[in-house]
Amino acid sequence: MFVFLSVFYCIDFARRLGFPPQDCWTGRARGERYGWVSLQWRAEPEGKYRFGLLAVNAAAKGGVLRFFLIYFLAASIVLSQEQSPPAARPGIFGEIDELLRELEKITGLKSLRKVPSDTISKENLKKFLEERIQEAVKPEEIRAEQIALQMLGFVPAEFDLKKMTIDLLTEQAAAFYDYKKKRLFLLDSNASSLQRPILVHELAHALADQHFDLEKYLLKGKSDDAALARMAVMEGQATWLMSEYVLSQLGASLKRTPEMAEWMNRLSGSSGGLYPVFDSAPLYLRETLMFPYTKGVLFQNAVIAKMGDAGFAEVFRNPPASSQQILHPQKYFDRERPVSVEPPQVKLRGYTRLIEGTFGELDHEILFRQYGDEATPPLAERWRGGVYRILENKKQNHRILLYASEWIDTRAAAAAFLTWRKAMQKKWRRFEVSTESSTELSGRCDWGIFRLQLFDRRVTSVEGLPERPRRN
Ligand SMILES: [Zn+2]
Repeated sequence: MFVFLSVFYCIDFARRLGFPPQDCWTGRARGERYGWVSLQWRAEPEGKYRFGLLAVNAAAKGGVLRFFLIYFLAASIVLSQEQSPPAARPGIFGEIDELLRELEKITGLKSLRKVPSDTISKENLKKFLEERIQEAVKPEEIRAEQIALQMLGFVPAEFDLKKMTIDLLTEQAAAFYDYKKKRLFLLDSNASSLQRPILVHELAHALADQHFDLEKYLLKGKSDDAALARMAVMEGQATWLMSEYVLSQLGASLKRTPEMAEWMNRLSGSSGGLYPVFDSAPLYLRETLMFPYTKGVLFQNAVIAKMGDAGFAEVFRNPPASSQQILHPQKYFDRERPVSVEPPQVKLRGYTRLIEGTFGELDHEILFRQYGDEATPPLAERWRGGVYRILENKKQNHRILLYASEWIDTRAAAAAFLTWRKAMQKKWRRFEVSTESSTELSGRCDWGIFRLQLFDRRVTSVEGLPERPRRN
């Protein structure tokens, strides 16, 4: 339902991918096909670093089937000696042409223009974000999105969306590509060891922009869920290319060993206290912020594994239609699109539409995780379509939430009905049930009267009907 107010930042994903600014670090994750993987690096005398990627296939009982270990004596890539230099080395920008040639080799896409670049401080980034939000988003739109997040139960009542967005992006951004000005910026506070992978990520955006016009591409998503899917294409591809570049320096490749994308993804996630704003943000914001990177990279990986290099352009020429297609690339290959669902009809004098949008698989997945216990197999992936709408009576300062979703079968719909019930019960202080059956639940809540219904494969909810007819 919700896409971050700005779409031009690139979060500090390199750090999450296991290149943290510490002397010695080891990450470990379980893989599906390979028992576990360990990634480590260690500082050695004279500013050299040893980087090891160790993967062990424990699929065969009791033994190590496949085993590879790649050592890398640094200086040339990812890791260098300075832990957190005062400013980005301007010298890094001298490598742009060479890095673009690397990207051309990997993608087959030619670089068409020079890419102007600059460094920016945290304070200036914050100013830039504030100005950009000011000019790109009306205060009324921010108010509507904030109300939607609150009524759907994703954020608490006192939540300030604009402030949280700016704080979160200021904390998380490592760089960004301004596709209005066609210029890239690196934060001057990045550890120098991270500058090159981050620069590759930004150059991947510039290259995609030269061929596919990213601004248009993002704006053309027909729904907010489709726009999120497009963002996952953009960030997923840039993250995939960054990873491929790093691995190529180690003699490895995602093209040859696609499983590594999964491992690298599993290594990301824990911030180890590096990101206090992120850690304190509501689950929904954390998940939707990370989704384009963590799920986008796996989506891109699946597309490359199936289509080869043609996949780099394919995801822009034939964009995915939903967050569901990003989460399940097979649905993208099969062109399985969401079904369109209408919200329940409510006509009341004095009420107008405040905001509406899709309520996608990702939205359900987060909601169910927050309020329910995810069933096995996960319920959210049995989603077929969903929508929400909020009506507002401005004079009365009163709002009504309308919701509908469709599911793959009646069992999934019945489970969704019960999970929605749990969410309602937890998000309100007042929850008084007047009638309850296996297909209908009604009563009174903080906002007025509610009614949740199950029809075959469909769930609908009306939350906040006025308790008595209101006069204007
Ligand atoms: Zn990015």
